[in-house]
Amino acid sequence: MTFKQLGLADPILKALEEEGYENPTPIQEQSIPILLKGKDLLGVAQTGTGKTAAFGIPILHHLYNENANQKGKRKIKALVVTPTRELALQIEESFKNYGRHTDLRTTVIFGGVKQTKQVARLKQGVDILVATPGRLLDLLSQGHLTFRDLTHVVLDEADQMLDMGFIHDIKKIIAKLPPKRQSLFFSATMPKSIVELSKKILGEFEQVSI
Ligand code: AMP
Repeated sequence: MTFKQLGLADPILKALEEEGYENPTPIQEQSIPILLKGKDLLGVAQTGTGKTAAFGIPILHHLYNENANQKGKRKIKALVVTPTRELALQIEESFKNYGRHTDLRTTVIFGGVKQTKQVARLKQGVDILVATPGRLLDLLSQGHLTFRDLTHVVLDEADQMLDMGFIHDIKKIIAKLPPKRQSLFFSATMPKSIVELSKKILGEFEQVSI
């Protein structure tokens, strides 16, 4: 299996080629076709398996195709929620990397630093937002961003988010999402609490385990 056979948009294929990615990893091979069809996904996978590209590439593909004939102000169409600043920065980097031949813009917000610069970047307009839960809710409640235009939502490392005590924040975030969306839920482990949480965000879904 090659990335080309998956039917990805040319600018994304070009970036993957430059990156030296020849073949999709198992999670990518299984997830990308499901996600390109617009279906919801429950992914049981650890970091290091190529998980970020497994969700990043299809999101970039969808947004690139939709954006090609769209003018006007940028709106946040994809949201990735992840537990830590380090993960958030890595995910932002991956989106920027795989999307570098598109004009899609990605930014990241996380707590523990002043919000001024993050707010300024949001104001300039972004297509893809990577966020940790607390800062996301803060900026949302202050009106610096809206969930109104979201079409793709990823909850990444869900088990770690629960371990870190983010359950309340996550439930608040889920409650504010627009109903018509593609939802992706990733966790390394699947205890009962995570299965319960996944049911709150996913519609009819397909499951991939690595
Ligand atoms: P992740 O699990 O998303 O953190 O990815 C782990 C590492 O694998 C990252 O450094 C990626 O750049 C790399 N990677 C992801 N997909 C591929 C691929 N298809 N071929 C080669 N390297 C990859």
